[in-house]
Amino acid sequence: MRIAIIGKLFAPINITSNMGMETFTYNLADLLVKRGHEVTLFASGDSRVDGAKVMPLIKKSYFGLNKKLSKDKKSMGVGYGYGGAEKRGYLKSLFYLRTHKYDFDIIHDNTDEIIGLSSLLVDLPFVSTIHLPFEYLKDLEKTVYKEKLANYYVAISKKQKKMVKNTPVFDVVYNGINSRKFGFSEKSRGYLAWIGRLDPNKGLGAAIEIANKTKTKLRIAGPIQGQKYFDEQIKPKLNKNIKYYGPLTGRKLVRFYKGAKALLFPIRWEEPFGLVMAEAMSCGTPIIAFRRGSVPELVEQHKTGLICPKDNIESMIKAVKKIYSMSDSSYKKMRKNCRKRVEENFTLEKMVENYEKVYQRVIDDWKKKNIVEKKLRVLEITAELTPLAKAGGLGDIAGSLPKALAKEFGTEIRIIMPKYSFIDAEKFPMKIVYKDLQVRMPDGGKKKINVWETLNPGTKIPIYLVDLPEIFSGEKVYPDVVPGRNENFSQFILSKIALELIKVMNWKPNVIHCHDGMMSLVPIFMKRHYLNDSFYSEIASVLTIHNLFYQPKVKNEELEGIGLKRSDFSDKSLNDKESVNLLAQAIIDADMINTVSPTYAKEVLTKEYGAGLDKLLRQNKAKFKGILNGMDYSHFDPRTNEDTPVKYWIDSLDKKTENKLFLQKKLGLTQSADLPLICVVSRLFPQKGVDLIEFVLKDLVDMGAQFVVLGTGHENIEKVFIKAEKEYPESIEAEMKFDAHFAQTIYAGADMILLPSKFEPCGLSQIISMRFGTIPIVRKTGGLADTVRDGYTGFVFKHYDKNAFLWAIHRAVDVYYNQKSNWRKMQIRCMEEDFSWKTSAKKYIQLYNRAIINHKK
Ligand code: ADP
Repeated sequence: MRIAIIGKLFAPINITSNMGMETFTYNLADLLVKRGHEVTLFASGDSRVDGAKVMPLIKKSYFGLNKKLSKDKKSMGVGYGYGGAEKRGYLKSLFYLRTHKYDFDIIHDNTDEIIGLSSLLVDLPFVSTIHLPFEYLKDLEKTVYKEKLANYYVAISKKQKKMVKNTPVFDVVYNGINSRKFGFSEKSRGYLAWIGRLDPNKGLGAAIEIANKTKTKLRIAGPIQGQKYFDEQIKPKLNKNIKYYGPLTGRKLVRFYKGAKALLFPIRWEEPFGLVMAEAMSCGTPIIAFRRGSVPELVEQHKTGLICPKDNIESMIKAVKKIYSMSDSSYKKMRKNCRKRVEENFTLEKMVENYEKVYQRVIDDWKKKNIVEKKLRVLEITAELTPLAKAGGLGDIAGSLPKALAKEFGTEIRIIMPKYSFIDAEKFPMKIVYKDLQVRMPDGGKKKINVWETLNPGTKIPIYLVDLPEIFSGEKVYPDVVPGRNENFSQFILSKIALELIKVMNWKPNVIHCHDGMMSLVPIFMKRHYLNDSFYSEIASVLTIHNLFYQPKVKNEELEGIGLKRSDFSDKSLNDKESVNLLAQAIIDADMINTVSPTYAKEVLTKEYGAGLDKLLRQNKAKFKGILNGMDYSHFDPRTNEDTPVKYWIDSLDKKTENKLFLQKKLGLTQSADLPLICVVSRLFPQKGVDLIEFVLKDLVDMGAQFVVLGTGHENIEKVFIKAEKEYPESIEAEMKFDAHFAQTIYAGADMILLPSKFEPCGLSQIISMRFGTIPIVRKTGGLADTVRDGYTGFVFKHYDKNAFLWAIHRAVDVYYNQKSNWRKMQIRCMEEDFSWKTSAKKYIQLYNRAIINHKK
């Protein structure tokens, strides 16, 4: 879990904390980190918890700043007088959490009072532990707590829960102590112990009276709260039998507990928890207490101490006498029981375990209340979809994400895409569902279209194919530019028709999901054209950015044709005089946006990767996420893949070699099992690092490697490879085409794949190749950085630099030639990696739900 903990600002929260709430917060944060959670601690700048991130709310704690206070340890915990800075500090945490709400799963407030209000400001599940004794709570009960904010209160004992009648307490979690520090002692040294702040309300007077009347030794520990009280009421009563040790910490404190015959706890107020009782019991020391506050929950009558039946000194005297008259063996048994009780109920581990459970229940409950629809209806609008019409990775996602959503979450999905003439109607049987349907076009005109229906292969998800031959008839998904038309004209038309079509179908989705800048019109139309139409007004929009560099521009004179006005594009800095940037506006208008890997999502916030939109993305960070693309492995399984001549798996990896020999033969390369066969399967554009590949070609040949490139793209780049093939016909093969089948034969036959991308939003080729046991050599960027582990599942280099790339290849080839068993281990690790949709589809559900919430705001 990603947990934000807000702590008190009075004293630093660190390993040396010795004040109640600060110690509690330190222990909680520390153990949560140790249990593998991501913890961010909002506290004073002098706080520190190993493994947790500290967000400083004020530079130094009040205690750290005030030297006089820090010298005078006795007055610790007294006089919280730094109101202004404290309030400003807490507000800072709230604003931060508000803008970073997607970075956290839950917030845990440990400050009492002020922060209770914060759940109004922060749209996240918010847990507040009530630490204060009831006396202090009374006023809060009348005000803050009574409001029943969307907050989850945790009480520290059942008694406390009962007492805060107006507060909706979600659960009870007992505080815990470090049972290793408060170690067990079987024997006592015979004295009665009293510990606490030396305050008239804490019952020290009664303890002294009891000690005197029973002629028992009494040892007292704790800081002096009021000097006058101490000088007048306590000091005169001290003698050989009644001794005061001052405030004890560390080993001395533990020794103090261990040596006691019993701990006297004559408090007559409703102590909400009473840590000292747990500490004493942990050392084996039984408790003698009045039946007040949490006492009956901590102390088991006769087993771990004595709870006085009456609320007076006589009753406690009887109890003391009883303890001293116990037989040795039954007293020892009592000590053991004490320790056991703590181990089972009041250790830090137990406490943190219980908080973990509470967090999960709170998150579930919060989701139930805040997540609008469990079973969502989602419309996907896409220009490409594998296997009907694939141009690249986007098509794979458009096809496989809906499949995963429907399977894992029961999401009801419909897809709308163009009916390209090249879609194989035999393979994907389709029927006409609307004939000569009249729809509005972006320019306001009307057109007649046909709509066909087919199913996303292997599912029951309907795909509606928009049949408009004058626009979608070409042989390519992305047709060549028609002079006088915007290059994304066909996607603009698709966007508009799709939105019109759902109304015709009378099918209202919760979310419309579309992909990339070319589909920018969807969120823009939804915000600007359809918001007042009750059919559309509740539908949220989500835009996934697969590649930030595709930013469709529309000239001013083209705007009318797509039904937009210049004034729809508000941010001057993003648009020039002659044209507007559609993607920029879509980022502003969409309810949620995401890109396809966590690292790319971070990179695009920088100038280097932001393609001019970094500032806009930073401004919209709160609704911007990175979700790694999932893989539908059913298409890419070497056990079943139809383009893999000899099927294989981890236990039959030798068969991969047969695929290599097959591939070499097919390509006309020298057939050899030993030579490393290196491949590239890629669009051939500068983004893919083709200049780096060009640079290493000769070195590959020198290393004795073979090289095959399958790809299409820039003509100049294709020429480079064709030339290299001519130069080294036995070692280099250039297949300048797009061939999804052949791609898989290459993945199956090659030893390594090169992906030295300049930037890579996610990258599917490395994920596919890994499943085939083909080791990726990648640059540490975007999704490549998120999926390939250097030395384990591939070879990774950082800087976009020819020599760095070459060095990574050298390392790979060296392992290939000289460390055969290591190579095999890497292949197995690659094949075992799991980037299926399971995890990512869930994140899309969260994204959709966020979009719905944002849309309502
Ligand atoms: P991008 O989407 O930037 O092109 P990805 O790595 O995300 O890159 O996805 C590329 C997808 O396209 C992979 O499935 C890859 O196998 C496939 N691919 C790329 N070029 C070709 C080609 N020439 N022939 C067949 N498949 C290709």
